[in-house]
Amino acid sequence: MEGEPGVPVAGGAAGEVLAVRVGLVPGVCEGHAQCYVVDPDLFPLDDDGYSGVGPDRPVPPGEEATAELGVSACPVRALQVLP
Ligand code: SF4
Repeated sequence: MEGEPGVPVAGGAAGEVLAVRVGLVPGVCEGHAQCYVVDPDLFPLDDDGYSGVGPDRPVPPGEEATAELGVSACPVRALQVLP
């Protein structure tokens, strides 16, 4: 399977496409909501206005670029794209 045309491989087992995930660094978010402005579904806020992303949130296929944008929009670098 690995190396066959049309079979996506992005690390991991042959044929497996690893999903992009984002995570919130504990204690860093200051509630600026810039991530939320980029995409409220990918970067929800909790009732106090702080990020509700949590430590490990899967990004739906096709929304990887939006995830990168939201992470880079945070002025205090509270978000990261997980390896
Ligand atoms: S993660 Fe960053 S941009 Fe998002 S609410 Fe927190 S401080 Fe604001």
